[in-house]
Amino acid sequence: MQGLICEGTTEDSVRLSDDIRLVDDLSPRQVRVEIHAAGVCGSDMSCIHGKYYMPTPLIPGHEAAGKVVEVGSAVTYCEVGDHVILSTFGNCGHCSDCEVGDPGNCAVGMGGLSQPYAEGDQPLYNFANIGAFVQETIVAENQCIPIPKEMPLTSAALIGCGVMTGTGAVFNRAQVQLGDTCVVIGAGGVGLNVIQAAKLVGARQIIAIDRIPEKAKLATEFGATDFILAEDDLDMVNAVKQLSGGGVHHAFEVVGHTGLLADAINMTRAGGNVCAVGVPDLTATVTYNFQSLHQNKNLMGIRAGGAKPRKDFRTLTDLYMNGQLKLDEMISNTAGLDGLIGALDAMRAGTEARTVLLPQG
Ligand SMILES: [Zn+2]
Ligand SMILES: [Zn+2]
Repeated sequence: MQGLICEGTTEDSVRLSDDIRLVDDLSPRQVRVEIHAAGVCGSDMSCIHGKYYMPTPLIPGHEAAGKVVEVGSAVTYCEVGDHVILSTFGNCGHCSDCEVGDPGNCAVGMGGLSQPYAEGDQPLYNFANIGAFVQETIVAENQCIPIPKEMPLTSAALIGCGVMTGTGAVFNRAQVQLGDTCVVIGAGGVGLNVIQAAKLVGARQIIAIDRIPEKAKLATEFGATDFILAEDDLDMVNAVKQLSGGGVHHAFEVVGHTGLLADAINMTRAGGNVCAVGVPDLTATVTYNFQSLHQNKNLMGIRAGGAKPRKDFRTLTDLYMNGQLKLDEMISNTAGLDGLIGALDAMRAGTEARTVLLPQG
């Protein structure tokens, strides 16, 4: 079958192969999934550039939806024919973190590496417990969350990472309340979801910041009340303080830039939340002035929106089916697997929200 293999730490090291196969029979609680849609996320770019220090060769891609084509002998979470969104967690389901409802903290899922496929004799790793830029993959049953068959798989795929990461930062981690004020630094795929979630819970002011002027329209459509164009000579901290009357309740840094995270601390009012949503190089160091955080502010790391996938994916699916959550509007482009590099170029240019790859063609 066809898939994209990354063999190094540059985009030149990614190639399309027609010769990939799944290596093992399913274990009792595994599921074979045909991938029908896989969003290209910032984390795929980071993975390909070696910023997650993953072993290669690997198959990138982790924001995916598809159809269940085979289940192991003990699987009860889904059936053949189900349409599913895939969760990246790969958590064990029975450690103390899983038991108290924090599957994202499960050490099994966080450190897990597997090689469910091979090209010739060469085993291939999967990225983020999925490896979705391929026609089929194998995952654990608790990574499969069934959805209604009427839902387009292209839109469903986005819930697997970008939508969950953005909305979960608001719902699960910052827990934005009715009447709160927010700033969202970076109005890309994830940032737009922070914005629409903040609107859903009734934030009264949502300030979006981006360096691309065209983002103003999309940010406003998703619920931003104000837009700041991040020009080089602009004092963004001051601009946010002026618009919000001294600082916001919640500042979301979505770009993954350490300097902007320090700015986010300064944009937050006393007692507010500073939310590190974007992911820089995992070895990066953040420097901030001590006093900027001192007034009872909370600096929070946020992995994948603090997701509880079996609950949250269904909530987001229902919100979409009821017309309350925008997903289709985020898809700027669809392409075959050979469209990955073009999608990464568009991401760098910052002109598009999301490209979704369609591995089945
Ligand atoms: Zn666990
Ligand atoms: Zn992602």
